[in-house]
Amino acid sequence: MIIVLRSTCSKREEQEVLREIRRLGYKPHIMRGVARTVIGAIGDERKQGSLEPLGILPQVESVTPVQKRYKLVSREAHPADSTVTANKTIIGGRKFQVMAGPCSVESEKQLMKAAYAVKEAGATILRGGAFKPRTSPYEFQGLGLKGLKLLSKARRETGLGVITELLSEQHADMVAEHADILQIGARNSQNFQLLIAAARTGKPVLLKRGLSMRIDEWLLAGEYVLSNGNAGLMFCERGIRTFETAMRNTLDLAAIPVIKRESHCPVVIDPSQGAGRADLVKALSKGAVAMGADALLIEVHPDPAGAWSDSAQQLSLEGFKELMQEIRPFILAAGRE
Ligand code: PEP
Ligand code: MN
Repeated sequence: MIIVLRSTCSKREEQEVLREIRRLGYKPHIMRGVARTVIGAIGDERKQGSLEPLGILPQVESVTPVQKRYKLVSREAHPADSTVTANKTIIGGRKFQVMAGPCSVESEKQLMKAAYAVKEAGATILRGGAFKPRTSPYEFQGLGLKGLKLLSKARRETGLGVITELLSEQHADMVAEHADILQIGARNSQNFQLLIAAARTGKPVLLKRGLSMRIDEWLLAGEYVLSNGNAGLMFCERGIRTFETAMRNTLDLAAIPVIKRESHCPVVIDPSQGAGRADLVKALSKGAVAMGADALLIEVHPDPAGAWSDSAQQLSLEGFKELMQEIRPFILAAGRE
């Protein structure tokens, strides 16, 4: 911790701060500048607790922690990139991965059509929500267990892995039985009990960024997964709330290099929720690849206009095929396969 004393701080007040630092188990190291004195307090903030309460003393100008609050997600803990394996697909390795499928599982016919088409185009993981977090209670809430069973069937028939959202702690085991990756949605990204329940299933967890979530908060939410014994964490940027209304959300592609610098976990980009408009998905996908993402999560529907949720942002089967062809040179240029 770095403690900056006010320029008006007297010798006696300085002694008071030093006493407090020692009492809390830290070793003070004094640096005297021309205008003010700075104290470096040496110790382990994670073991000895924070010195931030010193900030209430009138002679203290600021108290700044030097250690990160997140530990297991940080690159300090794990300098090399980590990879996550789901149904034989490795996310975060040399190979760029694409997860695709409908926003919601609606019927066997719809899901199978989407599954075979996305596989044919090169996707390795099938997405589809069985439990849907809808803004309005009057909108389609998902098929629930019936949707999960359809996802399992699609996995058996196509060999694709499956990612689907876990909406409630009480469904953790049931969803884990049918999924290769548990998606924690933007609206639940700081539902810590849900994160713990997801972690404890042992299945890989894709953690979406919350609607108004800072990156440090997102990393700390991810810490709940790793600290509960689950190493299969992926961060997924899906757009944040800003003043802009041209898109549904503002896809924060700058979060990719920031997360990559702070953390070893794979980064996935969801340009579909990010844009809310199918016509932007291709450009955002290319941007995501170029910025260093490890995978994409894309909504694809056999009949986007007739979709029961997120109709405006889903790509047609043809549109997805085109996207897959067009991102190929970007993947190669990014040094991935
Ligand atoms: C989705 O993937 O369909 C979804 C609801 O995502 P988000 O939680 O990012 O809104
Ligand atoms: Mn959706």
